[in-house]
Amino acid sequence: MRASDGLERRIIQMSYCRLGEDSDVYVYLSTDNHLHCCGCLLKGEFRTDRYSAMLDYLGEHRALGHRIPSDAVEKLARGGTL
Ligand SMILES: [Zn+2]
Repeated sequence: MRASDGLERRIIQMSYCRLGEDSDVYVYLSTDNHLHCCGCLLKGEFRTDRYSAMLDYLGEHRALGHRIPSDAVEKLARGGTL
C-alpha cells in the first residue's frame, strides 16, 4: 500500500523546516493552507492559518531553547514564500 507517498511528498515540498541537526521543529503548510508545527515539543501539534501566529509560536519554542532555523523564520516573516 503506497497511497501515502503522494501526501508525504507534498508535505516535504511545503515544509519550512524539518527535524534535524539544526532544528527541533517541523513546520509545514498543509494543502488546506494551515501551518503546522508537527510533532511539536510543546503540545504535540500546533495549527494555525496565520503566519504571525506561527512566528509567535516559534518564539515560544526559542524561549525554551529549542532550535529554530533562521531561514525558516525569515520565510514565514516574508509571508510564507518558500
Ligand atoms: Zn511546536
